[in-house]
Amino acid sequence: MADKQQKDDARIPESSLSETRFSRLRKKKDMPGGLWLKCESCGSMIYRKELEEKGRVCPTCEFHFTLPGRERIAMTLDEGTWVERFAEITALDRLEFKDSSPYLDKVEKARARTKQNEALLCGTGRIEGREVVLAVLDFSFLGGSMGEVVGEKIALAAEIARKNALPLVMFTGSGGARMHEGVLSLMQMAKTCSALAELNDAGGFSICVMTHPTTGGVTASFASVCDITLAEPGALIGFAGPRVIATTLKQELPAGFQRAEFLLEKGQIDRIVKRSEMKQVLARLLDYAGGSKVAARETTKA
Ligand SMILES: [Zn+2]
Repeated sequence: MADKQQKDDARIPESSLSETRFSRLRKKKDMPGGLWLKCESCGSMIYRKELEEKGRVCPTCEFHFTLPGRERIAMTLDEGTWVERFAEITALDRLEFKDSSPYLDKVEKARARTKQNEALLCGTGRIEGREVVLAVLDFSFLGGSMGEVVGEKIALAAEIARKNALPLVMFTGSGGARMHEGVLSLMQMAKTCSALAELNDAGGFSICVMTHPTTGGVTASFASVCDITLAEPGALIGFAGPRVIATTLKQELPAGFQRAEFLLEKGQIDRIVKRSEMKQVLARLLDYAGGSKVAARETTKA
């Protein structure tokens, strides 16, 4: 994010910057290791350490920054309960896709940077003592894009939830389908929905938390078909981006379009939950579901 900010700053012509802003910019560039960053929502400068201490929530406007997958897992599960599954599955380059660089080079760079093989992390763990299957889509790995591996791991997560009668909890943050895998990435939309339908048919329970940003083929597939859909405050959630829609419709979009609050009002999501309250809310929802397949079925019968 700091890199992006630096690029953004580099694009602003000096003449358009006020004296104060420009001197602040100069000062920022002199600082080692990007100690400060700018909030993408309110524009205030935040001390990076303070942001990390607050779970990457802006201290001024409460904007929820995108969270790396491993941090999300640590924040969601009880300490020491995470058992990762299917970490070894890696992407194939079936189309031998190349744009600015070969697809597998991009994957390799993302692997080196994130120390994980793919964008989706899944496994089992406990949320305030309740055992769950957890799947976290990490935006920092190729924009959390869904290719064959992400699709396969979501399907496997749904399968272990079904076979072990465990609830499935998912977090999404994604730019959509992984274009480098062409139609095979689009196929994952059907595959993940079908796996979740099987979980549902077996009496399973699933929750999806959409975080900033959740877009494209991920919003249009598994993220939207769970029993309960939550979102973090201010999260951008949609299929096509607002600019594409406005250009196509030749209409001005309503204020707050595609933000979590707008979608709550329209009924697309069930509730907005702050990051600081997420764990407790998930625990309560898991209790409502009865905690097991059997209990959930009995409730339905009654
Ligand atoms: Zn802010």
